[in-house]
Amino acid sequence: MSAGMDSELIVKAGSPPPALAGVRCVMMDLDGTVYEGDALYPTTLPFLDALTRHGIAWGFVTNNTSRSIDAYVARLRGMGIPVSGPEQIVTPVLSVAEAFRTEHPAFRRLFILGTDDFRRELCSFGFDETADSPDDRPDAVVTAFDKSLNYPRLCRAAWWIRNGVPWFATHPDVFCPTPEPTWLVDCGAITACLETATGMKCGRVFGKPNPDMLQVMMKRLGLRPAELLMAGDREHTDIESGIRAGARTLRISSGVGGGVSETRADYCAPDLGVFHRALFPTD
Ligand SMILES: [Mg+2]
Repeated sequence: MSAGMDSELIVKAGSPPPALAGVRCVMMDLDGTVYEGDALYPTTLPFLDALTRHGIAWGFVTNNTSRSIDAYVARLRGMGIPVSGPEQIVTPVLSVAEAFRTEHPAFRRLFILGTDDFRRELCSFGFDETADSPDDRPDAVVTAFDKSLNYPRLCRAAWWIRNGVPWFATHPDVFCPTPEPTWLVDCGAITACLETATGMKCGRVFGKPNPDMLQVMMKRLGLRPAELLMAGDREHTDIESGIRAGARTLRISSGVGGGVSETRADYCAPDLGVFHRALFPTD
């Protein structure tokens, strides 16, 4: 990584120049990349507009499964982002549904720890929820960001895990950042709680840093890895997921993701605006 001023784009040695020749889609993390809390960064809308004008698709990937994709569409539109529809947003609900469809086609009935939105959304892919009963054995247990976590249901999940039911988690994050005076215990911590209680290991964890969500998008758009660019502020989730997917990567250094001296990203910029000006200097 070459040295640069804070206001400059840094290009990793060996990476192609930041002309998006060959890139057909830019996928972005949300918090710390396009907005912070409820405040949209001023660089976001001009960047998205430029991508659209230059014929490059764009969308968002988030590990946060507490909201449905439709709820994200409404939230992002409410912030002024011209999202055309749910096809521009990927959360691990799509990764779970795709993995079950292709790798576990016999799965029909699930015991889910998640918000009402998440449970409804996952079941919309053709699954049913089992009752909280020892007589209703599920095909799989799924743990997600359950903001309505309930002790008997936590124990029921543990019971099925102890009894050998295949177990999956939507994402590894142990907490969810919030400006509120509280600490949001996230899916990774709920998963760790169940692992401690049962002595069992979760069979598979989806979400960044895994490449599954980007692979969902590549499949949807028929893209090769080199045709995708992943932008985000966190090295060990956003950038890692892009690298594992074989995509190009852009690290945004102004978010909460920490220092950038060791970044493995192809490009590093303080915000999307700096990257925008490097890509399209005549805009
Ligand atoms: Mg972020």
